[in-house]
Amino acid sequence: MSAPLLELVGLRKAYGSHEVLRGVDLRVREGELVCVIGPSGSGKSTLLRCCNRLEVPTAGQVVIDGRDILRADVDINAVRQGVGMVFQHFNLYPHLSVLDNITLALRHVQRLDRREAEELARAALAQVGLADKAGAFPGQLSGGQQQRVGIARAVALKPRIMLFDEPTSALDPELVDEVLRVMRQLRERGMTMLVVTHEMAFAHAVADRVVFMDEGVVAEEGSAEQIFEQPRHPRTRAFIGRYT
Ligand code: ADP
Ligand code: MG
Repeated sequence: MSAPLLELVGLRKAYGSHEVLRGVDLRVREGELVCVIGPSGSGKSTLLRCCNRLEVPTAGQVVIDGRDILRADVDINAVRQGVGMVFQHFNLYPHLSVLDNITLALRHVQRLDRREAEELARAALAQVGLADKAGAFPGQLSGGQQQRVGIARAVALKPRIMLFDEPTSALDPELVDEVLRVMRQLRERGMTMLVVTHEMAFAHAVADRVVFMDEGVVAEEGSAEQIFEQPRHPRTRAFIGRYT
């Protein structure tokens, strides 16, 4: 089996005396889609934010492509270019056009010139089905369209892995499917993905593996079939039961 693209080893994170992550081990292999589920407050967002050092863990390792990104000699900007992140609340710049939202990092972080950046941005927009919205502003788009722009912005940087933090939780129910569809397409193109979600049907249908987090630890992990159809841990059973 191939080496993991992302590996968390004994990951811990405390805010003051509150230990939010209490020793998490997790592996994501190239091309895999791993879903993280679990109750609110169990540490899912903190876990994702540790994967590109938006949060600095208290202990443990975050290994990406064989390198521990917590080491002092790591170029964190280079690491972040390889780790795309999609947030619950899109985090688009409202005063910038869709195209400029996407070219911003390409121009300033990857140092591409305007033409190259726009070419990549338009390709990414086409990939999420929004080729015709390049000149629009975020406020002119539906929530589902805004989130697809958020995905295009991450895709344009050609990351090695993409992290999604409840990408559909802020959307009206009728807008959820268009975003999940784009995520499925990404996966079919071979993107490696770590997805925190409450969309249990999506996780069940699409995930290679499902990780159930509870109170800062991985309480249970398995195939989608195992977790959803035969959960072993009583907390997993109770959690899944709320959705079915
Ligand atoms: P989840 O995404 O599973 O809902 P989070 O990772 O957001 O969980 O939060 C886990 C716990 O950590 C919560 O109790 C939350 O209040 C706390 N927490 C998250 N971020 C911070 C922070 N910056 N400072 C203090 N506490 C935080
Ligand atoms: Mg969260």
